[in-house]
Amino acid sequence: MKILNEFRCSFPACSANEALARAAVSAFLIPADPTAQELADLRTVISEAVTNAIVHGYRGTEGEVSICLRMLPERVIYIRVSDKGCGIPDVAKAMEPLYTSAPEEERAGLGFAIMQTFTDSLHVRSIPGHGTVLTMRRRLGKNDAES
Ligand code: ATP
Ligand code: MG
Repeated sequence: MKILNEFRCSFPACSANEALARAAVSAFLIPADPTAQELADLRTVISEAVTNAIVHGYRGTEGEVSICLRMLPERVIYIRVSDKGCGIPDVAKAMEPLYTSAPEEERAGLGFAIMQTFTDSLHVRSIPGHGTVLTMRRRLGKNDAES
């Protein structure tokens, strides 16, 4: 599919960079004139994905998180978040609402459920010991200025 615009970056896996990822999504989306709700949804989505990479993928160890944002035709936003951390042994289980491998950290196990709710598609590719790649798509509503 034709890529109309693309932004890629990598940063160290530290929680301060969650805000950086949210800001990147905002800056990337603004030219498409999203609604406040769409913007809030996609900021939440990237936050959940990047937080997972940091807290679960690397578990406090050093590593890099990479994000790729694309604007595709028909106002489809593509978001990819990847890490080279521990990977997910059972993706289906991990995606079950309320499942968390870190209940002692008072995690709710809702990150994947939130990402699924706020996107049109979510794909997870993970290899234990090698890392995880999340790919999500969300189509923005019609922009009045373009119709
Ligand atoms: P919450 O997001 O509500 O704080 P959570 O992070 O545990 O809790 P999810 O985001 O739904 O819940 O993730 C479910 C589980 O999937 C995690 O507990 C973790 O075991 C696993 N997981 C998710 N992302 C990764 C990742 N990038 N690397 C390794 N494991 C992951
Ligand atoms: Mg999470």
